[in-house]
Amino acid sequence: MIVMTPEAEEAEIAAVRARLETTGVHVLVLPGELTTAIGAIGDPERVRGLNLEGMAGVDRVVPISRPYKLASSELAHHEPTSFSVDGRAVGPATFTLIAGPCTVETREQTLGVARAVQASGASMLRGGAYKPRTSPFAFKGLGVPALEILAEAREATGLPVVTEFLDTTHADAIAEYADVVQIGARNMQNYALLEVAGKLGKPVLLKRGLSSSLDELLMAADYVLKEGNERVMLCERGIRTFETATRFTLDLSAVPWLKLHSHLPVIVDPSHASGDRRLVEPLSRAAAAVGADGIIVEVHEDPDEALCDGPQALYARDFPEFAERVAAHASLCGRSLA
Ligand code: PEP
Ligand code: MN
Repeated sequence: MIVMTPEAEEAEIAAVRARLETTGVHVLVLPGELTTAIGAIGDPERVRGLNLEGMAGVDRVVPISRPYKLASSELAHHEPTSFSVDGRAVGPATFTLIAGPCTVETREQTLGVARAVQASGASMLRGGAYKPRTSPFAFKGLGVPALEILAEAREATGLPVVTEFLDTTHADAIAEYADVVQIGARNMQNYALLEVAGKLGKPVLLKRGLSSSLDELLMAADYVLKEGNERVMLCERGIRTFETATRFTLDLSAVPWLKLHSHLPVIVDPSHASGDRRLVEPLSRAAAAVGADGIIVEVHEDPDEALCDGPQALYARDFPEFAERVAAHASLCGRSLA
């Protein structure tokens, strides 16, 4: 929609109309009491390329259609997307429980947690081999040895492995070991990384940036989807607000909003959102109640000794009851653990 200034002259309105018509869009002139608006119906990209804002008599150009395309539920996809990750269903009938340590520290630690979460109904194992750390002096992950440990844990439990893809130079290693490629919050707008992730041919768990809008999240998803990769999960993991009581603010309204505007599954991360294990269960239950397709949570056998994110890690010994109570909430919404 092109809104003209109140002073715009007929010749200026005609000039805008003529420029729009060069692109083949359908043009509708809507004279109003104060100003004239001109509707352009058709390909928004072509209209954007016309630089109408600079033309005489134009006040503003207001996009009506949504800026994300492939992630949108407006276009081809009206049905929610569902897919399988090595036989584990993700989608409307399932509540996907992804659990595991923040980071792989040792073989024993990772296998211990993997067995504990597998026994209680988790459908995938999380664990970082490459960690994005706020301080360059913090533990950054074991790299390839961690990926080898994760592969061993997959072998022992049958759980597909979700691990973060931090840098394009790790692409070969991630392609070899990961079953789900996680894009961390700090990299949601690393467009080169998103394109490489899309090309790996593996499902992608795309985390929302710390200060990213939902429109930006869906445009980031478009980067992966445009590589022909349809298996994308969106992840709400808390955003920056004025509130400092929790590590981030879990934006639960993102879940039903994303369900309205996108066909992609939505996973909630209450661990990184809250930073506090005491809040992880209530937020997980809330995620189930608000219609999330699953959660991703951090678990450790001895969180006090964890190298990363200990205060938010659930005790492995508490995980069975946690999983049972969250599954009960999910079943109220017609979902069962995968
Ligand atoms: C993680 O899941 O290990 C992680 C670093 O999360 P985020 O990117 O959401 O901070
Ligand atoms: Mn973590």
